[in-house]
Amino acid sequence: MRIAIVSDIHSNLHALDAVLQDADNRSVDLYHCLGDIVGYGAFPQECCNLIREICDETVFGNHEHAVLFPEHSMSFNPDAKKAINYTIDQLNEDTINWFHSLEPHLVLDDFTIAHGSLRSFDEYVSDATIARLSLEILQTDLLFVGHTHYPEGYQYDLETKSARAMDLIGEGEAVLEDGLRYLINVGSVGQPRDGDPRAAYGIYDTETSKIEIIRVKYNLKAAADAIIKAGLPPHLSKRLYAGR
Ligand code: ZN
Repeated sequence: MRIAIVSDIHSNLHALDAVLQDADNRSVDLYHCLGDIVGYGAFPQECCNLIREICDETVFGNHEHAVLFPEHSMSFNPDAKKAINYTIDQLNEDTINWFHSLEPHLVLDDFTIAHGSLRSFDEYVSDATIARLSLEILQTDLLFVGHTHYPEGYQYDLETKSARAMDLIGEGEAVLEDGLRYLINVGSVGQPRDGDPRAAYGIYDTETSKIEIIRVKYNLKAAADAIIKAGLPPHLSKRLYAGR
């Protein structure tokens, strides 16, 4: 089975459309979402509709959490807070109820999905030391996360109890080996921050144990212009071009 993992869409409908089209062309059987469907971009309701329609399983991210509990979004910068207020205005009640029903992480057949890490939806896994904290308590051999908007991977050796970064950075593929545990960050569909403005997502092939990180060009100008038109902070539009 070929499973597409999408994360951090951030209301970027143009990027999400392009990714779903690309995944369809690559014969994907199933889709899962790692949260942060909303925030920053102009189309929160439309992105939620699409994710609910397409994805089999979805976990919540810190931006869904901020929509439900705006008083707890202290760590958000002023631009992100403005986008949360805009998002709250745009979402219908059914979507809010759906957010309430989502879990912070889910153990699926032979892998686990989470937004930030296995320890917290708001933890940034940015090095092997932090990755190890999730990998040592993982019940499956594979964990998919998002949140940092950096596509990359870490592997954990069960014998030596050590974790290290993989060569899988930005885009590319890796075949998973027996006896190791893996944490794969699939990057961000709607707001990449690794300097590459193309949308990022992952495909996991359960038969070949292969992980692919794929980058997709999309109509970036349309997404950026829509942010300005919606009255959102111009910085949120500009950063899409820079991929930062
Ligand atoms: Zn995010």
